[in-house]
Amino acid sequence: MPMTAVPQRTAMSHACGALAAALVGTAEYYRSNQLHEPLPTFAMVALVLETLLGFLTFTGSLMAMGKLQEVLPQRPITYRNQNAVNFTLFAIAAALGVRLIFVPTDTWIFPIFAGLALLFGVLLIIPIGGADMPTVIALLNSYAGLSACAMGFALGNNLLVVAGALDGSSGLILSIIMCKAMNRSFTNVLFGAFGQIQTSHAQAQQRSYRSASAEEAASILESATSVIIVPGYGLAVAQAQHKIRELYDSLMRRGVDVKFAIHPVAGRMPGHMNVLLAEADIPYDRLWEMDDINGEFGQCDVALVIGANDVTNPAARTDKSSPIYGMPILDVDKARTVMVIKRSMNPGFAGIDNDLYYMDKTLMLFGDAKAFVTELIKELPAKVGV
Ligand code: NAP
Repeated sequence: MPMTAVPQRTAMSHACGALAAALVGTAEYYRSNQLHEPLPTFAMVALVLETLLGFLTFTGSLMAMGKLQEVLPQRPITYRNQNAVNFTLFAIAAALGVRLIFVPTDTWIFPIFAGLALLFGVLLIIPIGGADMPTVIALLNSYAGLSACAMGFALGNNLLVVAGALDGSSGLILSIIMCKAMNRSFTNVLFGAFGQIQTSHAQAQQRSYRSASAEEAASILESATSVIIVPGYGLAVAQAQHKIRELYDSLMRRGVDVKFAIHPVAGRMPGHMNVLLAEADIPYDRLWEMDDINGEFGQCDVALVIGANDVTNPAARTDKSSPIYGMPILDVDKARTVMVIKRSMNPGFAGIDNDLYYMDKTLMLFGDAKAFVTELIKELPAKVGV
């Protein structure tokens, strides 16, 4: 499983876990009715919560997986009064659940209740853009955990209660961390249809930018005293971490001070960049968190952005109309020279243009991250005759 596909793999696990919890709840409900031993009210409350969360997490996770795997459209699918429709549907499902709690022998209600929960899972996720799926998956993780926790109460199983509560709270904490790092609220993630606004390519093409070859970029790097490397999702896609290690070694040997700036939501999972760079044995003390390194960009000669986009977009600081306005970013635009390795002028996951690319001090280095860094390394020894 490539690391870039871990979010959708995780979504699949949640779908299976949630379905298992919901099916155990369904079986327990019908079993008690068949034996004419209706469950006590407390157990019914737990069972209703278990099946409601389990079924909606099952379909919701499948939708999230489909979006991340690009089997389904990544853009938010929206229509008029969508939130009202979703709320009404959820309210009907909840009302049926309450009825089941008080009249558990009304077995005809159960399939309708389960069907509504399954449908709600789909409708909850389709208006959310692909860029928010990692956060949504963490939230669905939390729902699956809560469903398992409720199952523990329904079956009187302490282990399930504890394991489910741990899973539920860790998923919630993770999604809170992600929302904080993007400076977005839960409501905005769940109901904001983020990622809908797309900058037209025509508009992007009208603006001019400068590009450079590997040879030119190598000569700039070689004469720099300090370089800050900013890795992003493209680094993971290209699996360029080992080549970046070689570039790091090569520059350090020349006396260039090289640091890595880590944005908390660079890539597709928290810690994604740390794991990739650790894979290539890049010394941990060279990795700097966003808040610690932002003050250093002003004094650095070159900010070398490798496959990162949204996390460097100055619009987050300056453009109030931008969907990422308010998201803390790495201040790469403050470096003396900015070099960006990516394959095209295409936007990143948020689907918006990046003003950084059109600045006078920015050089676009077009190519796959691994291939371009390999070229850079080749050019560097040539410069000093190594
Ligand atoms: P990004 O904004 O998605 O940009 C990645 C860039 O990499 C793209 O613009 C792409 O441009 C380039 N790229 C792709 N394949 C490449 C390759 N083989 N070689 C070179 N470049 C390549 O990524 P980011 O800056 O890391 O930002 C992460 C995004 O994910 C943010 O929007 C964040 O909010 C979101 N997110 C992250 C998390 C998390 O926990 N990490 C959670 C929720 C949301 P080209 O196509 O032109 O090459």
